[in-house]
Amino acid sequence: MTITLDQLNAAPAAEAARWLDGLYEHSPWIAERALQRRPFTSLAQLKRAMVEVLAEAGRDAQVALIRAHPELAGKAMVSKTLTAESTNEQTTSGLTNCSPQEFARIQQLNADYNAKFGWPFILAVRGPRGTGLSRAEIIATFARRLDNHPDYELAECLRNIHRIAEIRLNDKFGHEPVLGNQVWDCAEILARHSDPGYAEHGQLTVTYLTNAHQACQMQLQRWMRDCGFDEVRVDAVGNVVGVYHGSDPSAKRLLTGSHFDTVRNGGKYDGRLGIFVPLVCVRELHLAGRRLPFGLEVIGFAEEEGQRYKATFLGSGAVTGDFAPAWLDQRDADGITMREAMKAAGLPGTLDAIRAGKRDLSRYLGFVEVHIEQGPVLNELDLPLGVVTSINGSVRYLGEVIGMASHAGTTPMDRRRDAAVAVAELAQFVEKRASSVPDVVGTIGMLNVPSGSINVVPGRCTFSLDLRATTNEARDALARDVLAELESICTRRGLHFKVEETMRAAAAPSAPEWQRRWERAVESLGLPVFRMPSGAGHDAMKLHEVMPQAMLFLRGLNAGISHNPLESITNDDAELCVRAFQHLLGQLEEVPA
Ligand SMILES: [Zn+2]
Repeated sequence: MTITLDQLNAAPAAEAARWLDGLYEHSPWIAERALQRRPFTSLAQLKRAMVEVLAEAGRDAQVALIRAHPELAGKAMVSKTLTAESTNEQTTSGLTNCSPQEFARIQQLNADYNAKFGWPFILAVRGPRGTGLSRAEIIATFARRLDNHPDYELAECLRNIHRIAEIRLNDKFGHEPVLGNQVWDCAEILARHSDPGYAEHGQLTVTYLTNAHQACQMQLQRWMRDCGFDEVRVDAVGNVVGVYHGSDPSAKRLLTGSHFDTVRNGGKYDGRLGIFVPLVCVRELHLAGRRLPFGLEVIGFAEEEGQRYKATFLGSGAVTGDFAPAWLDQRDADGITMREAMKAAGLPGTLDAIRAGKRDLSRYLGFVEVHIEQGPVLNELDLPLGVVTSINGSVRYLGEVIGMASHAGTTPMDRRRDAAVAVAELAQFVEKRASSVPDVVGTIGMLNVPSGSINVVPGRCTFSLDLRATTNEARDALARDVLAELESICTRRGLHFKVEETMRAAAAPSAPEWQRRWERAVESLGLPVFRMPSGAGHDAMKLHEVMPQAMLFLRGLNAGISHNPLESITNDDAELCVRAFQHLLGQLEEVPA
């Protein structure tokens, strides 16, 4: 029998608890305590309540919950003593049909895992789409997670337990994240196109204007037409543009979208999620025969990642009129100029055509972008959505400290001019200084001793500096302090240094009224509003220069890893993303365009 949220809200506590029985393995107390927070306005809110109950219960209760689970393909499965829910899951994933080798491998992993962590391995085997992971995926995940730190692995088990409960809850309520599934499936289909050299290894790489890139353009255009967009085209820089007219086709438009190019061996959702979500929204509008009082223009930006040419944001730059003429003469690793690549891809390849693609900015209401977080914060908090307050401004430097190379055995400690120790000291300062201010980060990602040797005091040390903050002022203050500290360290140690600024990008704070729209959209789903800065750059940064913008983040699984094939999202989270976007569109219907 399926139940409705209204029934659950109205039922006596004992009956409601009985309905939710089995969500958490042998642990009815989680649902019982969550039910004390009734009424729920959405399933997402009920799920969130259960997450909070378990978080508040403390580590002992959490470990006990994990231990209440059966081993994967373990004795309980073999002796058929699993709970009904677990039997269903382990059977669907094919674990009951393991080959003898697979079975032996899983038993070994079970033993190693138990020895390291002291609890059974927990994996939501129905996976991020709810349809089941393959045995190969299960074994690969198992092996990978063995390397985790115990604190992280405990949290990862709990996240998997919540995912298991989410799917079981969906089953009880007959809830299928249909729109989220569409987003998820689009990501799988688009990921079939990959550049040569990567495609053969099952890796996803789509760089600017390659054959795979053009195949993505074709696919996106096909989808846009299928979804009911009124105008679909590829512009001069290679962006895929779809327009869904408002009830008055001359009405202003909301601009949205993200990039479909990828880094090398990247993930399926970085950028692309921000195209699929509005596509599904338009499809729903079109199916319902609905027009909004404003137009919706969705752009799949052709290039954001700067992989093939030494230029980034080509797609959004062309839209805002920020396209440097010199870029056309840049050559890729094979010596092909950007102009030649454009012509080969059927684009005009002229500056005039690209400049003609600059939008008349008075025609737009603003820009919104949905993006996977690409960081660990939402995953760790077990929150599906985050509202972006600002895209961090950044500044980068390359530097070198010069001291004196000398014999590691004969040079007394008080007579050294060690360049590497100076940079190490600077790294400690960067860590301390950046930690002292919220939402500011600083990294020395490269630290090299050129032709260093085990028995030589480093005479030179080259290093990089990457400093980011939510405002330009905070970024500049950090940079000032770090450079002053570098000078003082070198003076004290009798060294000298060179430092060169290589990149500077302005912070892009969200437009307050647009940020509030995302916040209201998240609230409407019954979820807490969580505000966060974006540490990474996005197309919205470019649009920020010419119109109000705000972004919505979706949690990534696997500690939010991105620019990596492990980048992943669930269909349920994707559904929430679509719902949030629909809510934002609804809010805009109420304000005159
Ligand atoms: Zn991206």
